Amino acid sequence: MITHIEHIGIAVKSLETAIPYYEKVLGLKCYNIEEVADQKVKTAFFMVGQTKIELLESTSPEGTIAKYIEKKGEGVHHLAFATDNIEAELAHVEAEGVQLIDKTPRKGAEGLDIAFLHPKSTLGVLTELCQDKNK
Ligand code: ZN
Repeated sequence: MITHIEHIGIAVKSLETAIPYYEKVLGLKCYNIEEVADQKVKTAFFMVGQTKIELLESTSPEGTIAKYIEKKGEGVHHLAFATDNIEAELAHVEAEGVQLIDKTPRKGAEGLDIAFLHPKSTLGVLTELCQDKNK
């Protein structure tokens, strides 16, 4: 079952210039910066209620975030839903005909188990499912 929006992923060219906007203008506090090497990104997190904002900066010109910005510019990159059972949720959406980017969950930032659904079958929204199994 999907419980809430876990985070909104936003592609930025530079965390160094993006973080001050979220902190000084919006008054949010960056509480974690983390590099996810296998996704070639550096992430910065802000808490807004029970939802996070995840800023994504590419660590390589070959990374998916770098390619995304090249094509579409900076902006909203993906929407992440929290689920209480990521394997069951993946099986469910696949049975409904959704194309999966990740057939099985992998480790994302903040120790979450994550899996992406292809935007071709989610009406154009790159969708991430995540479950915090450390809870
Ligand atoms: Zn994400």
